[in-house]
Amino acid sequence: MEKPHHVVIIGGGFGGLYAAKSLKRAPVRVTVLDRRNFHLFQPLLYQVATGTLSPANIAAPLRAILKRQENVRVLLGEAIDIDVSNRRVVLSDGELSYDTLIVAAGVRHHYFGRDEWERLAPGLKTIEDATEMRRRILLAFEAAEREGDPGELRAWLTFVVVGGGPTGVELAGAVGEIARHTLKHDFRAINPADARIVLVEGMDRVLPPYPPTLSARAEAGLNRLGVTVQTGAMVTDIDADAVTIRCGERRERIPTRTVLWAAGVQASTLGGVLASATGAAVDRVGRVVVEPDLSVAAHPEVFVIGDLAHFSHHTGTPLPGVAPVAMQQGRYVATLIMRRLRGETMPPFRYRDYGSMATIGRAEAVADLGWVQFSGFFAWLAWLFIHLIHLVQFQNRLLVLIQWAWNYFTWNRYARLITGKNPLPLLR
Ligand SMILES: Cc1cc2nc3c(=O)[nH]c(=O)nc-3n(C[C@H](O)[C@H](O)[C@H](O)COP(=O)(O)OP(=O)(O)OC[C@H]3O[C@@H](n4cnc5c(N)ncnc54)[C@H](O)[C@@H]3O)c2cc1C
Repeated sequence: MEKPHHVVIIGGGFGGLYAAKSLKRAPVRVTVLDRRNFHLFQPLLYQVATGTLSPANIAAPLRAILKRQENVRVLLGEAIDIDVSNRRVVLSDGELSYDTLIVAAGVRHHYFGRDEWERLAPGLKTIEDATEMRRRILLAFEAAEREGDPGELRAWLTFVVVGGGPTGVELAGAVGEIARHTLKHDFRAINPADARIVLVEGMDRVLPPYPPTLSARAEAGLNRLGVTVQTGAMVTDIDADAVTIRCGERRERIPTRTVLWAAGVQASTLGGVLASATGAAVDRVGRVVVEPDLSVAAHPEVFVIGDLAHFSHHTGTPLPGVAPVAMQQGRYVATLIMRRLRGETMPPFRYRDYGSMATIGRAEAVADLGWVQFSGFFAWLAWLFIHLIHLVQFQNRLLVLIQWAWNYFTWNRYARLITGKNPLPLLR
């Protein structure tokens, strides 16, 4: 008997997972390959980085999510090359052949050519990144408690967040809340509320893709949490003791021990691999330019979806790297594969933008739904609801809801654990 059509999906993030789930009733075999054994809900990573949630609250094993879908198998492994002529994915320890390939490998941080900054200013993309950020934030307060020198104390209590997009705004707001509320009674030698939190953004306002009124409200909300917003500022240097920024002609050196990076992304290395294998174009950050049906030019059997895809056919500008784009593209490609197998065609992909939201702190958010913009408590409730329903497992939804309710009423963050490397050398 002829083997069913084999679809290989690289990446079990939003794009890959939604493609796999949408192939549930298709007469195909599906292999989901990921170098992690879990699906990660990245929009809530900042809450792990700031101690509200634990890593397991926002991640779920891919095997558990897909266990009832009999046409899917999950493989733990890393794709390192793609041989399009022989339709094979080369793994670090083997290979996989495919009839159709969906590449949904996402993006990683980008330090604009200053890779040495990564060590000093961690970005937020993985669970490890989040726990490393949490470690640095909490450790800074611990070090401040033991510091006798006023200059050093000031540096320990200064937090610089680079990048005023949603992640930077959410991180800065959460650090503000930790300093002003969560840690209020925890220390004896310092007052955590003395912390200086600086959010640095290169454009002239935070949340640049949002309407200016919402940017202004976000900035006002951040200010209420003690965050100083420095717009029109470029980071020119980061070292172990300070961040240097340039605002027009003015340069400022901000002494700090804690720098959090939320400024830029670049495509996963698989974007470059695929481009050299197929001759496809890549954009400035390495995303693969895709056809209107999300396939790669001259390779109708290879699709790129989610953050790794550069799609600008009906929009003029590339679609943003957000979860709804990845989910809709995953569903679209799954439907296209099923239709092709029936000998049918399908119109090009079209993105339906239902809007975007960002939180600024407890009970405060901004929402832009296109036809209406709002902010404050109701935007925050809408943000909570949307994030809860998109968490992949019921157990996680329940646990996160309980944590949020507890956090709302008590201001507490119970996942305030300093884990990882031995912190003591940092305490001079
Ligand atoms: C901190 C943060 C906050 C965000 N907040 C929001 C938000 O509020 N709203 C929103 O809509 N979006 C948000 N996003 C963006 C959203 O998470 C992404 O758009 C979405 O995850 C993209 O899905 P994807 O499937 O393309 O990639 P990802 O979800 O990144 O998944 C890629 C998968 O590929 C795997 N992989 C990569 N390379 C390989 C390889 N070589 N071999 C095997 N596996 C591989 C990875 O392990 C990963 O599981 C946020 C992102 C971050 C980092």
